[in-house]
Amino acid sequence: MKPLQDLVRKNILSLRPYSCARDEFKGKNAQVFLDANESPFNSPYNRYPDPLQMYLKERLSELKQVDAERMFLGNGSDEAIDLLYRVFCEPRQDNVVAFEPTYGMYEVCADINDIEYRRVSLDAHFQMHADVLLKACDARTKLIFICSPNNPTGNAMQREEVETVLHRFDGIVVVDEAYSDFCDHRPFRFDLDKYPNLVVLNTFSKAFGCAAIRLGMAFASQDIIGLFNKVKYPYNVNTLTAEKAIETLGDITKIYQRIILIKESREWLMQAFSMLPCCEKVYPSDANFFLVRVTDANAIYHYLVQQGIIVRNRTNVALCNNCLRITVGAKAENEQLLKALRNLPS
Ligand SMILES: *Cc1c(COP(=O)(O)O)cnc(C)c1O
Repeated sequence: MKPLQDLVRKNILSLRPYSCARDEFKGKNAQVFLDANESPFNSPYNRYPDPLQMYLKERLSELKQVDAERMFLGNGSDEAIDLLYRVFCEPRQDNVVAFEPTYGMYEVCADINDIEYRRVSLDAHFQMHADVLLKACDARTKLIFICSPNNPTGNAMQREEVETVLHRFDGIVVVDEAYSDFCDHRPFRFDLDKYPNLVVLNTFSKAFGCAAIRLGMAFASQDIIGLFNKVKYPYNVNTLTAEKAIETLGDITKIYQRIILIKESREWLMQAFSMLPCCEKVYPSDANFFLVRVTDANAIYHYLVQQGIIVRNRTNVALCNNCLRITVGAKAENEQLLKALRNLPS
């Protein structure tokens, strides 16, 4: 890896971050807070939240087995993705590399930040190859995005290929593990010691059932997390979100039971799909969704909409001609979907 100061944008390196009232005071024993122009009424929501969310990070640290100092929390993983661009990529000069098809936000954030986005195709089995990704890089490539398990294809990338990228790329490697709770592979967040250039993304939006509260996590070296903290909005995670997250972590057994249930339903639903006349191929999945190739994705998508059932039509995405992406739902929802497809007019 290049020295971190050679990867970071110059203006970010020299940035003096906003110093908020709560930063200044930090930890000392006080009862009277007249420092932040808050209202004295409506406790506890009258107070600005902890800018670094230390209490929530300590709880998460036990669960994720990652030190709180190596953790960034934000308004969804999407905030972390945007911060990666703002910290590392100089507009109209730097570029990033990702395979395709993959999660759409990497490219949207590149466009917003005016950064060149370089796409490299996955192979016919939706696997990535380190040498192909690395060949697309040059001296101005700052980030490589690896989504695993990948959205929309559903499969996890081969570990050796990801490790090769981590070893050989001298910039930042972002491994987005939004779906790793549904996957049997060892998560990459356990390898932060080994790879100083690794950034792992996790989220409360999928397995934790909390998409509405908007809470995403990034795990990385303390130095990289320090850069995120410097650039983020001071109070980027609000008190309501932090409270709900802590409540959710209080019953983690329930989360694990639901993950098992979703994985079982996934196997059942994929099996049922493979017997449908309209289904041409069910692709393997390590996530809470799967990709299917059907006879006519557009027609079937619109037919399902008329039945009040929404799936994701991916037919216009690279390598996904005539493919639909199906999220595994509750039992009754899955059955309703199957029933509709069995009654598909031919
Ligand atoms: C759903 C998803 C996320 C989650 O984004 P949030 O902003 O945390 O809701 C991140 N990455 C991928 C690949 C996803 O599919």
